[in-house]
Amino acid sequence: MKKIRNQLMYNYILIAVFALVLVGLVTWINYAYNEAERDLLSIDLDWLEEDYQEGGLVYAFDNQFFTEEDAIELVNEDLQVVESIGNGHENGHTYEQAELNEMLSLSEYETYITVYLNDMSGYFLLLKLTPYEVYNDVLLIMGIIAFLGFSIAVFLFSRRTAKQIVDPMAELEEGMISFGKGDLDHRISYEAGNELDQIKDTFNTMANQLIKERKRREAVENNRKELVRNISHDIKTPLTNILGYAKMVSDGDLKGMDPKEVNEVILTNSLAANDLVNDFFSLSKLESVDFELNRKKTDVMEYFRQLIIDFIPELEIRNVDYEIDLPDADVEVMIDPAQLRRVLQNLIHNGLKYNDEGLKFTFEAHVEDLTVSLIVEDNGIGIPEDMHASIFEPSVRVDASRRTDGSGLGLAIATKIIEAHEGSISLSTSENGGARFVIILPVCQ
Ligand code: ADP
Repeated sequence: MKKIRNQLMYNYILIAVFALVLVGLVTWINYAYNEAERDLLSIDLDWLEEDYQEGGLVYAFDNQFFTEEDAIELVNEDLQVVESIGNGHENGHTYEQAELNEMLSLSEYETYITVYLNDMSGYFLLLKLTPYEVYNDVLLIMGIIAFLGFSIAVFLFSRRTAKQIVDPMAELEEGMISFGKGDLDHRISYEAGNELDQIKDTFNTMANQLIKERKRREAVENNRKELVRNISHDIKTPLTNILGYAKMVSDGDLKGMDPKEVNEVILTNSLAANDLVNDFFSLSKLESVDFELNRKKTDVMEYFRQLIIDFIPELEIRNVDYEIDLPDADVEVMIDPAQLRRVLQNLIHNGLKYNDEGLKFTFEAHVEDLTVSLIVEDNGIGIPEDMHASIFEPSVRVDASRRTDGSGLGLAIATKIIEAHEGSISLSTSENGGARFVIILPVCQ
């Protein structure tokens, strides 16, 4: 991943290299121009005289490399032009000596050379050599190259900067605006090859995260609505019963029932409604954001053993058999003793509630490196395999034909409590077909 700073530096280096090439090119052309100028000056004067002697002025002019701007004049001893070829004076033009001297001495753009002819006393050839045209061409070419070169460099620079910085920024801005308008499906796709790619990734991850969060919130909201619907439905039965029997009492018509019996029905239904409301309240509390466990470092093996002992009188009264298989070890776990008790109590009470004679509980515990598992198993009717996952959701019960005097919230409450302990709770079928609940908790390091 390149940094924007480096990328800009590369761009500047590119322009600098371009400029260097340009300067090189211009220098080379300048050098070529000088060559051209030297070529003009390197007209072979001896050959020129020979050419003249051989074929006259026209022949000499054509034979040597004269341009149209150049001229050869044959001048006599009175400094009068006798014959002229090229861009020179008319025949008969007479030079002043001073003028001629000045011409021969120095000229910025033209070069005058005299070639004295040996066998024509006093006659000489006056050459006028003009580097003008070459010079003008060179200036024009250099100007065009410089202009083109500069334009290309600016174009390349702006294209590169646009691809690397400007376009990505524009796309980002567009994405943010779409986001601001609530379009969470907008994604950014540029490839800048610099830090802006990280911003793109962060933006896209944030968008995915927000969508996930929106879905999660929708799911929570739907669950909550369904829970309220179920609870309202569940509470209706005991309330209708209470209302019916209370009305019988107030009308003084017990339809032949024993008042004690009527009272019993009202009491049982009141308790059921009360349990339902209490469980609903507990679950809401566990789901609220400010719920916190009151955790203490506890030897969970000793805790589990003590809890089972507390339940033994109840098991014995109900003639329920039990087996305890806990390792003799100290296993420290951060637990909220009251909340964990609630979970284990619910598992034991469910076992008692949903099963009949011949019930036997098995309490086990296993210690791993980082975790400990606490197991409550019974040999009862069990729970169908296809419900092993959904049974932990609120208001899920096995089926209407079974005894259903619970709220259907016990295992949902247990799950919330165990998850708050960073643990898990799962269900499987025991060897004898009953329910086997396994709670896994992280051990203190
Ligand atoms: P509830 O308050 O109705 O007991 P739970 O969430 O605790 O609700 O249990 C959900 C359902 O799972 C119960 O209604 C029952 O049908 C079934 N269940 C729970 N534990 C057992 C068990 N040990 N044996 C058989 N069925 C069970």
